Amino acid sequence: CGIVGYIGLEDTKEILLTGLEKLEYRGYDSAGIATLNGGVKVSKVKGRIAALREAVDANVHSTLGIGHTRWATHGAPSVDNAHPHQSRTERFTIVHNGVIENYLDIKNDYLENVEMNSETDTEIIVQLIEVLNNELQDVAAAFRKAVNLLTGSYAIALIDAEDEDTIYVAKNKSPLLVGLGKDFNAVASDSMAALHVTDQFLELMDKETVLLRRNEVIIQSPDGEVVNREPFTAELDA
Ligand code: GLU
Repeated sequence: CGIVGYIGLEDTKEILLTGLEKLEYRGYDSAGIATLNGGVKVSKVKGRIAALREAVDANVHSTLGIGHTRWATHGAPSVDNAHPHQSRTERFTIVHNGVIENYLDIKNDYLENVEMNSETDTEIIVQLIEVLNNELQDVAAAFRKAVNLLTGSYAIALIDAEDEDTIYVAKNKSPLLVGLGKDFNAVASDSMAALHVTDQFLELMDKETVLLRRNEVIIQSPDGEVVNREPFTAELDA
């Protein structure tokens, strides 16, 4: 399983699909991508990346997107349970690897009236972010608050249909790296999934949140302090 994300100037489809192919070795049962360009477009399949390639509309162009390979833990492998998952209004779209241990508590405490579209623990994260954003009217703050409420393991990337300039990223006990480029930035479960675009990476610490934009990467601690991090160079034939 694994996640990838890209925000830049180039069309994302091929970059995301190539990244997902590089993550195939980790094992998975379904895969999907979401792209954003005047609206979010989600494509997902049960099975191989080759099948996802077929499902992705060649006419959809976007310079921002996220992708996922799923190893099902909550809910059977199916198209409905495949990621990306969306919030009730479809404003927010998420990919997630890992297991949210307190997903039932979150569902009971915050999402009593929200109808779920899947059987995954993942869907509660994206529904929670929408509920918190309705309250806070600040997506970065809602994202950070949601991350602080979650227990378990996660690598997540989130997009907001109303903001074509940001991918929201966080991790806890699951691997995730930010890949740095000129006029683009990327995120991936491991460097192999982004070496086709860059060899410069930033390590993330557990529970940090990241605002990933074309020309900037803002890392924040759980209490919102901006954190500075030096990049490292990944070995090309690693
Ligand atoms: N727990 C999530 C699910 O079952 C994510 C699984 C994964 O790591 O791919 O959908």
